[in-house]
Formats: sequence, structure tokens, C-alpha cells
Amino acid sequence: MIPRLTLNDATTIPQLGYGLFRVDPDQAERRVAEALEIGYRHIDTAHIYGNEEAVGRAIASSGVSRDELYVTTKLWNDRHEDADNALKESLEKLALDRVDLYLIHWPRPGLNKYVQAWESLIELRAQGLTTSIGVSNFQLPHLAKLESETDVTPAVNQVELHPLFQRWKELDAMRVHGSLIEGWAPLGGGFYKLQDYPEITDAAENHGVTPAQVVLRWHIQNNIIVFPKTNSPERMRENFDIFNFELSDEEMTRIISLDEEEFGRQGPHPDEFEKV
Ligand code: NDP
Repeated sequence: MIPRLTLNDATTIPQLGYGLFRVDPDQAERRVAEALEIGYRHIDTAHIYGNEEAVGRAIASSGVSRDELYVTTKLWNDRHEDADNALKESLEKLALDRVDLYLIHWPRPGLNKYVQAWESLIELRAQGLTTSIGVSNFQLPHLAKLESETDVTPAVNQVELHPLFQRWKELDAMRVHGSLIEGWAPLGGGFYKLQDYPEITDAAENHGVTPAQVVLRWHIQNNIIVFPKTNSPERMRENFDIFNFELSDEEMTRIISLDEEEFGRQGPHPDEFEKV
């Protein structure tokens, strides 16, 4: 049974899902069908991933009821001034009349229209086109600006987060206002090998699980929401099977020692990422 966390709008979100970044649109329908078959109910996609239509087809033919599913998509960087139409286009592709969570994908501080985008998301939530609203890759100053100009706190902030990049102080500050943290690239995004770190492999050996399972479990015990991506059904099953063991305090702390702070960041810095 996947645990659910309660968001600041009183709705709940499954703590584990399946993420679709770099899942080829030609394969995404099959992958989502496999994920739903395994038992995943939380799907994390985005306009820019190019696979919303495939996700929609898989959902439609799965037989899983809409109420059981949790679907997130994201507003791309070129639509901050047009979020209303952008979400409607995503809904059409997903063949849904609402998503569960809609996120501003990146803040694009150079353009400086993310407050306008946020105001649109507030309106879209009021219209029922999305149940919850949140942001992704927002730094503390961006969050502070949303708060001061709109008084509405994002339900989540989806940020890069993995053993080499743990961001403890920053995440504590983000949580002060009631946002939950979703961690992207929870396994390190394939940028480094988890099996190279005894802090991870020792725990894996102790529990008879894999390094990936240890790291996902570590996120879960830190109250992080995760949706690892894989193209392999075996790994999908492995990533789902993390609720029958528990890391000890010592094992949790050893993984904290891997943090390389800013040096551990693998993706782009949100202050500089303006790609459209
Ligand atoms: P992940 O940390 O999920 O890592 C994915 C990589 O790990 C792939 O190379 C995959 O390879 C491999 N992998 C998956 N499971 C296992 C396993 N059990 N054992 C060994 N290797 C494994 O990185 P992502 O970047 O994909 O992040 C996850 C999700 O986060 C994305 O799919 C997306 O939904 C979201 N995301 C959001 C971003 C944002 O800006 N908001 C940015 C990036 C991601 P293989 O496929 O070959 O199994």
C-alpha cells in the first residue's frame, strides 16, 4: 500500500509514482500501462516530455477509475503568460477533464512572469481544471515573491534531490509555508552509480534489497514524494517494492554524509534556466 501525504489544500497525494521524463512518446503508452498494472497510481508527466497523449491513452484503456489515479502535468516555459490555454491543451492530450496537480515547470526569473502564471493557476484551480497547484524548480526568493504577491502557497515544490544533492536547509525553509517537497532525479537521474557508494550498498546488503531501493526508501522516510523513471518493467517493480523494510537511523545518517551540496547538482540551476 503506497502511503499518501496531505497537501496544504487538504487533498492527499501518493508518495510514490512513475515519472515520464525521457520516456519516448512511442513507448510511453506501454510503460504507463505496465506501471498501472504493477500498482502505480501516481503519474508525473509534463507538456515538454511530449508524452501526454500516450499517458492519456494508457489511462483510458487501463480500466483504473479516475478517482484512484493521481496525474500531474506541468506548464512549460514558453506559456507563463498563457497558462489557461496551456492547461486546456494538456487536458485534451491527456483526455481528462482535470489533472490532480498542475505545476509551473521552471520559474524563468529572467522573463519574470511566474507570478502572472501563478495567478492563472489559482484561477484554474477555482475552475476545477486542476485539483491542486504547485511549482517546480522554485528557489526561496521565487517562493517568497509568490507568497507576498498572491498569498497562495504552492502545494508542492518539485526540485532536484538525491544523495549527492540533499539541500537540507533550503528544503526546511521551503516547508515552513506548508509546501511538500517532490524530489526529481531521486536516483541521481543516471548521472552517477549508486553502487559506487558503500553508504548505500551496505544498507542494501543489510536488508537484502538493491541500491535503488535503499535510495528510494531513504526519500520516503524523509517525507519526500518521488516518481522514479525507468524503461524497464523489472526496475519499475523493484522501485515499487520499497515498503516492506525500514532503514535504521544510522543507515539514514550515513547517506546524509554523501551530500556534496551545490557541487552535487546535476541539472540546470533554476536562476539561469530560461530554455523555451
Ligand atoms: P531518476 O532518478 O528517476 O533516474 C532515472 C535513471 O535511473 C534512468 O537512467 C533509469 O534507467 C535508472 N533507473 C531507474 N530505476 C532503476 C533501478 N531500480 N536500478 C537502477 N537504475 C534505475 O531520474 P529522472 O530524471 O527521470 O527523475 C524522475 C522523474 O522526475 C522524471 O521522470 C520526471 O517525472 C521528474 N523530473 C522533473 C524535472 C523537473 O524539472 N521538474 C526534471 C527531471 C525529472 P532505465 O530507464 O534504463 O531503467
